[in-house]
Amino acid sequence: MKVILNFFKKIFSASDEGDVADLERSNSQSQVKVYSRSEHNISRSQMSENAVKVLYRLKKSGYEAYLVGGCVRDLLLGYEPKDFDVATDASPEQVKKVFRNCRIIGRRFRLAHVFFGREIIEVATFRSSDDAADNKEQKVHEDGRLLRDNVFGSIEDDVWRRDFTVNALYYNIRDFSIIDYTGGMDDHSAGVLKLIGDPATRYREDPVRMLRAVRFAVKLGFSIDESTEKPIFELAPLLKGIPAARLYDEVLKMFLSGKGIQAFEMLRHYGLFETLFPQADHCLNNEQNNFPRVFIAKALENSDKRIADDKSVTPYFLMAAFLWEAVQELAKEKMRQGEEESFAYQHAASNVLSAQTKSISIPKRVTQSMREVWLLQLRFEKRIGGRPYRLLGHPRFRAAYDFLVLRAETGGAEMELAQWWTKFQDASDTEQKKMTRPPRKRKAKPKTKRKNSDND
Ligand code: ATP
Ligand code: MG
Repeated sequence: MKVILNFFKKIFSASDEGDVADLERSNSQSQVKVYSRSEHNISRSQMSENAVKVLYRLKKSGYEAYLVGGCVRDLLLGYEPKDFDVATDASPEQVKKVFRNCRIIGRRFRLAHVFFGREIIEVATFRSSDDAADNKEQKVHEDGRLLRDNVFGSIEDDVWRRDFTVNALYYNIRDFSIIDYTGGMDDHSAGVLKLIGDPATRYREDPVRMLRAVRFAVKLGFSIDESTEKPIFELAPLLKGIPAARLYDEVLKMFLSGKGIQAFEMLRHYGLFETLFPQADHCLNNEQNNFPRVFIAKALENSDKRIADDKSVTPYFLMAAFLWEAVQELAKEKMRQGEEESFAYQHAASNVLSAQTKSISIPKRVTQSMREVWLLQLRFEKRIGGRPYRLLGHPRFRAAYDFLVLRAETGGAEMELAQWWTKFQDASDTEQKKMTRPPRKRKAKPKTKRKNSDND
């Protein structure tokens, strides 16, 4: 009933320019579907106990409380969600009154974080993103990007500001039903990612949604609906306007998902990789040189395999792989101009990193490690005397050695060199000594006075 009332309210309040969008929205709202507990497979036993506690406590205090977003989407697939997000009609201040272990965070959106040891349950108040609203709380950039969006609303408002239909499903703690305003359940069963509303407008509001489309398609094995996919090719450059700090996290999630290789292929396909790693993309486009493609693909495959085997992966290794060719090309250029090799590489590393951090703000400790991995590559060449021992003791040796092996496997370094280092690490003291001994100089023959026949 509430929904139908809302439908009429929307129609009659529609302003001239907003009326079409409002009508579309209202029509969809009139199709709200409620899936009862017996019509879906989500059970409370799959949820974090703390999330369940938060839901019940809010409900007991007289508020609405739902699980929403990625956790509902993942639970429907039987996956263990990364985190649990709660949506409520309580304001952040009201949430804070309900929970002692709670902090209000965020500038762009104010949210409540409820702490349980190391687990944080994020509780967000329903928000509206009604573009007809003349509200000081909402700020839009001239290119259509939402800068601040803190208009509280109802669940019917909240649903429309979410990105994909499968991310806009609400699990209601009151009766364990799932509320679906956007056809998300059908899309979920069909394995389709569909943006809510007009895709181009939604990408302009927040270009990061293009990256999220790729990330979820890869993570869930879903396809991207044609209308959601089409504008990406054209709008990909909008990502350049996103603050570099926001992109780093998104990029990490993308490449450390265990399906990094698919993410890479897809980002390249849509022209999104270019906006994130312009220098790497430039090298990848060189048709004469296949090395960067093979090298990056192999780095990603290895990293995906490590994740599958539950081994640790480090972001700096992958980023170093993405940019290695750019560093090498620039270093070679500098050497042609007369710089000594090690200086050339140091300067090239600095230049490449400073250009890269304009797109994605990579933390200092990560860029520092990338730099070390690159510069240690030169030191692998020095195999005589004490140098190999010192290199072995370098804190970044292991990563740099793995990098060398990767280069060798993909034709970017001598296999013999990589094998030498593989052997050297496990060799006995005597063997190591032998391996690092300077090649014996041939005894110079005693000089005999040569007759210079020319002078004769
Ligand atoms: P995961 O946590 O697995 O990465 P998620 O869908 O939960 O995926 P979050 O970033 O945790 O992603 O966001 C939670 C929810 O908030 C999303 O499911 C979506 O409904 C909404 N959301 C997040 N980012 C955006 C965005 N850029 N535009 C619109 N809605 C968004
Ligand atoms: Mg989430």
